[in-house]
Amino acid sequence: MSSVIALDIGGTTLKGARCVDGAPLDVWHRRTPAGGDAVLRAVLDLAAALRTEDTSAAGVVTPGVLDTATGVVRFAANLGWRDVALGAALQAALGLPVVVGHDVAAAAQVEAAELGADDLLYVALGTGIAAAHVVGGTARRGHTGAAGELGHIVAVTDGEPCPCGRRGCLERYASGAAISRRYAAVRRADALPDRAAADAQEIAARAATEPLAQTVWTDAAAALGAALATATTLLDPAVVVLGGGVAGAGDVLLAPVEKALAAALPWREPPPVRLGVLGSAAGVRGAARLARALGEASP
Ligand SMILES: [Zn+2]
Repeated sequence: MSSVIALDIGGTTLKGARCVDGAPLDVWHRRTPAGGDAVLRAVLDLAAALRTEDTSAAGVVTPGVLDTATGVVRFAANLGWRDVALGAALQAALGLPVVVGHDVAAAAQVEAAELGADDLLYVALGTGIAAAHVVGGTARRGHTGAAGELGHIVAVTDGEPCPCGRRGCLERYASGAAISRRYAAVRRADALPDRAAADAQEIAARAATEPLAQTVWTDAAAALGAALATATTLLDPAVVVLGGGVAGAGDVLLAPVEKALAAALPWREPPPVRLGVLGSAAGVRGAARLARALGEASP
């Protein structure tokens, strides 16, 4: 029995697993440290801890703009990375073939395979927001590998400033980080005591009974609906699939997003919106799929 190592590098959590036949045996979670060098060290430590005698290859998926051929991450804002030779570092540490892929593209491909969908727009709502359009089993990455930056579509006119240099980007409203940040801000504005940082799922649960949480949640869903309308206008996907931590809110997210999407597309039928079936494991599964393909390709 040969296994592969699958790693999913997120802005908040590092996930890693030993996988057999593409399925993770046990997913380990580590908090992503702050600072670029510390992140790389933590990734290498996690990989080394997962390596066993029978490991044949490793797959790693990461956010940002990357060169998949060389395994270099050109830029990943949430990791503090610029020109990090991730593939080479892992290969040297493990002594195994390593493949580097884009987290959202990899997750989108496994969700598409799982759903049997030939044309799908996958939207990962995590610390940040990115999307991948899968057509015929392949995620389109664009000319420079920077396609799918849905988080930086302007969803709110003259909205909150974004580190990208514009205002009103989707990511400022509907990412996990934004939902937590905006909820903390409205509580402060109402002179309510700071609560321990609430995550998006917690805020979604409170939205049913608490007006401040409801305001933040409604803004997030409306912004996401508006951005999905723009994406639909351009790409006309057969189905939109929501993944990432924020999608863990389930129907509390789905219902208002469907409503906002339909309202923004009065001239056409909106595509169906559904939740990913793999949840937060989609990235690890995507990395395992890449590693497995590499293992099969090498002798
Ligand atoms: Zn932006």
